[in-house]
Amino acid sequence: MWSSQQLKAASVAGRGLMFVVCGPSGAGKTSVINRVMECVDGLSFSVSHTTRRQREGETDGVDYYYVGETEFETLVESGELVEHVIYQGDQYGTSRGEITRVFAAGKDLILNIDVQGARLLQGKGAVPDATAVYIFLTTPNRERLRERLEARGTESQDVIERRLATAEEEMKSLAEFDYLVVNDKLDQAVNELAAIVTAERKRIRLRG
Ligand code: 5GP
Repeated sequence: MWSSQQLKAASVAGRGLMFVVCGPSGAGKTSVINRVMECVDGLSFSVSHTTRRQREGETDGVDYYYVGETEFETLVESGELVEHVIYQGDQYGTSRGEITRVFAAGKDLILNIDVQGARLLQGKGAVPDATAVYIFLTTPNRERLRERLEARGTESQDVIERRLATAEEEMKSLAEFDYLVVNDKLDQAVNELAAIVTAERKRIRLRG
């Protein structure tokens, strides 16, 4: 005899899953994540805090919580951020409040963070009650990344060059991830990320 509770308890998904999506800025993480959230139930985006200026088309509290340096430092000092980094001169961080909010609603979390942030999460076991799945999302090659950054039109040429240099560094960390999604065609990348979410929700054994 078995019950549905027993089956649920056997799955690691009972612990709350964090899908950590990393990869070069401009690779399409935001577009892929947004599309996956439309087609997979029970996923909620982790809204990060940042000191970077708000871009046109972004909404405070939806894309990021836009804060000043002082407010960000207060969050760091109070231990509210489970990870935080400086990326190209701006501060970014994931808050405990955001994680608690999503898990309390019975949902899984999807994060869009940089490679350094993923390392911090992996290193400390920063969120003990969650199981994290690390996904690297990138373009098929450097030229495609440049094209996308230029097409976005939100950054100066100088910033684009810096982001490309950072991308070269980030690519070296591929082996630290559980999954690779190459964003050549958006639909395919969306299907692949959705498949990873579905498969991980069915996992019984934790990774060794
Ligand atoms: P953007 O300024 O283009 O929105 O983001 C720049 C980089 O910061 C992206 O690679 C994005 O994934 C990363 N990022 C956004 N939020 C966070 C966060 O909370 N923590 C970390 N470590 N990186 C973040």
